[in-house]
Amino acid sequence: MSEPRHWREECGVVGIAGVQGAAELASMALHALQHRGQESAGITVSDGHLITTHKAMGLVADVFDETTVKSLPGTFAIGHVRYSTSGSSNLINAQPIQVASHRGAISLAHNGNLVNAPQLRRTMEQEGSIFSTTSDSEVILHLLARDRAESIPDALQNVLPRLDGAYSLVLLSGDTLIAARDPLGFRPLCLGRFQDSYVVASESCAFDIIGARYLREVEAGEIVVIGRGELASRRIARAERERRCVFEHVYFSRPDSTIFGTSVERTRRRSGEILGREAPADADLVTAVPDSSNTAALGYARATGIPFEMALIRNHYIGRTFISPAQQVRDMSVRIKFNPVAEVLTGRRVVVVDDSIVRGTTMRKLVKLLRQAGAEQVHLRIASPPITNPCFYGIDTPVRKELIASSHTVEEIAAYLRVDSLCYLSLAGLLEATGEGERYCNACFTGDYPVPFESEPDKAVFDRHAAGAELILKPKPGGSPGGPGA
Ligand code: AMP
Repeated sequence: MSEPRHWREECGVVGIAGVQGAAELASMALHALQHRGQESAGITVSDGHLITTHKAMGLVADVFDETTVKSLPGTFAIGHVRYSTSGSSNLINAQPIQVASHRGAISLAHNGNLVNAPQLRRTMEQEGSIFSTTSDSEVILHLLARDRAESIPDALQNVLPRLDGAYSLVLLSGDTLIAARDPLGFRPLCLGRFQDSYVVASESCAFDIIGARYLREVEAGEIVVIGRGELASRRIARAERERRCVFEHVYFSRPDSTIFGTSVERTRRRSGEILGREAPADADLVTAVPDSSNTAALGYARATGIPFEMALIRNHYIGRTFISPAQQVRDMSVRIKFNPVAEVLTGRRVVVVDDSIVRGTTMRKLVKLLRQAGAEQVHLRIASPPITNPCFYGIDTPVRKELIASSHTVEEIAAYLRVDSLCYLSLAGLLEATGEGERYCNACFTGDYPVPFESEPDKAVFDRHAAGAELILKPKPGGSPGGPGA
């Protein structure tokens, strides 16, 4: 389906160390992280000497069938799922990125966004470096290859302080798995115990599927080096306070996950409860926009005493169904995903809880559907504050002017959405829901950016590269796109 372009760089990473059938375990873990990225999937395995990467565009199930997984023997593995805009150019940016260097083969998978990658890349290109992807992650590999330290962990310790922004990364070389998080800890990365060894993953739900036990978060500013059964930890830097992405709790992560050492279910449910206290409504039922707002809606229902009902049914099987522009005008892009339950809605005053409003286009269509299905009143409650600023730390938001709340008041948004009332959760309420509000980044709601960046338009440096790649990679009629990872 041609989805409206929201944000681009959600990703999920996993690392398995010293376990038989590492590729199979990594592919299972990637299934659990599929919600973090549906554009491409990839796994690198190592048997201690030989490193092999398989990656392609598509869902984990499409990229890794039984034959493919069996063709990847090894006891160490890293994996990645990526969400990005559609188009063949993304094939070159599928991860893990495997390179050959004077240290041997290295493979890297990264979740986050480096705000100084354009400058670093520009300098290296001027010095003669040739990049084969348009991704900021490749900059890390170049810096690693250039560093003169003896070992990869030593080199990483030199390189990471040169990076500004967000990185939760896994790196594989020979029989060493390395996991690291930036000093502010924007993106999550969990450490788990599996058999006699260790695993890492963006969210703990990836551990549940393989039967690993959650131990702790890889700490902000920590490098964890895992060999065959042993783990060593070192630090790059300790920031005064972490700035974890609060939107991970609002939308990205699964409620059955622990991230940043906190249950997503707990945070989301609390956010709904606080929203219920802050903005009750006179209504007959509370409903969610499944699945991301289910938990917050349950919290809202509990706090207000209004019964929770399933008034919207989501179709999980639409994938990337093509919707023609003419059909989009008839709202089919939303209708194919959500169908209202007339039996529940007819003649009722409905509170709809959603996790966030980005551009407002989805909600405008949903409200229309709910009314057509018989809802008498629609009161909208959003379990996060208005999104007024783009993110530069791993969620490539639409440009500022496309964020509806960047230029419209709550009253104007309510009028545009044609709802009877609209209330957002306060920032204080959201931060309270996390239990450790001062440790979270809230730049998308406040513009308070914890890591400065050169300038907003500089993001275009990579976009320009990506546009160029699109041209180069456009498949010839009957041919297939080329480039690394093809
Ligand atoms: P919009 O139509 O642009 O306002 O989209 C709002 C919807 O997008 C909400 O229902 C959210 O659940 C969902 N959403 C929020 N953040 C993201 C994201 N990063 N990627 C995809 N969907 C999102």
